[in-house]
Amino acid sequence: MWLDPLVVRSFAFISHAHTDHARRHKEALLTPQTLALIPESRRPRGWRMLGFGETMRRGDGKVTLYPAGHMLGSAQLHFEHEGTSVLYTGDIKLRQPGGAPPTHVPRADVLILESTYGRPHFRFGDPDSTVEAIARWCRLALDSRATPVLLCHALGKTEEVMLALAPYGFEFALEKRCAPCARDYAAAGRSLPSWVELDGEPAPGRVVIAPPSGKDEIRRLGRYRTALVSGWAKDADFARLFGADATFDLSDHCDFDELVEVVERSGADQVYTVHGYTEDFARFLRRRGVRAWALEANEQLALAL
Ligand SMILES: [Zn+2]
Repeated sequence: MWLDPLVVRSFAFISHAHTDHARRHKEALLTPQTLALIPESRRPRGWRMLGFGETMRRGDGKVTLYPAGHMLGSAQLHFEHEGTSVLYTGDIKLRQPGGAPPTHVPRADVLILESTYGRPHFRFGDPDSTVEAIARWCRLALDSRATPVLLCHALGKTEEVMLALAPYGFEFALEKRCAPCARDYAAAGRSLPSWVELDGEPAPGRVVIAPPSGKDEIRRLGRYRTALVSGWAKDADFARLFGADATFDLSDHCDFDELVEVVERSGADQVYTVHGYTEDFARFLRRRGVRAWALEANEQLALAL
């Protein structure tokens, strides 16, 4: 069984619908929501759907999926075989806005952890306070007759930000790359606050959401202000790259402290890191007495347990 492999495999677990994880595998294991969010052209040829908390047998092993809190359908995979267990987090987020409980981390002997923000300067504010700050910023822009533009990735981030801002009663306009993702989100079972698609005209009174790259459509809005909504807001060089007027560190990934928390809550004494600052985070864990390694290239092909 391959975990989010980058090339086509005969049996692969797809942790969530971001396109970097979706390939036309012969058979894929995924949640029904993830399948619904993968465009037809990128879907695996065959699939086995598994809901959260359901268990599937595979040979002598047992596979169970748990919510990962990263986006709709995102799952952690827990594998048990002859008394040894492995947890693969996929992209994961612990703290959730809107009073939702934090993501549950099942216990395992071996943890494979995504370490996107595995450096200590990535410490994000409390999600509820950040959402409130974003709402205040949008309101201020609207009050001064400027269009607030939130720069968010089209799939997952755009929809989660709309849901988080729903209690504030904003009306939304989505850039054309965000629109199909919002439609898919609603079709996959999560209804969104009302929105229209940007059509090259100004969108007075609305909060616009657009991907961070390519601002042609945004420039047609007349008076506008932009805010980058991303964990990368904590990286000054990166934030400057996007030339946004404001930044908010609302992320769908764990920050440094949440990564440490995932390790602690899993109880694992053996940790492998994937994605982002793999070496930095593995080194930090080793200093704390955890057996940890960054998984790179060929080492990713097989885990000796
Ligand atoms: Zn992702």
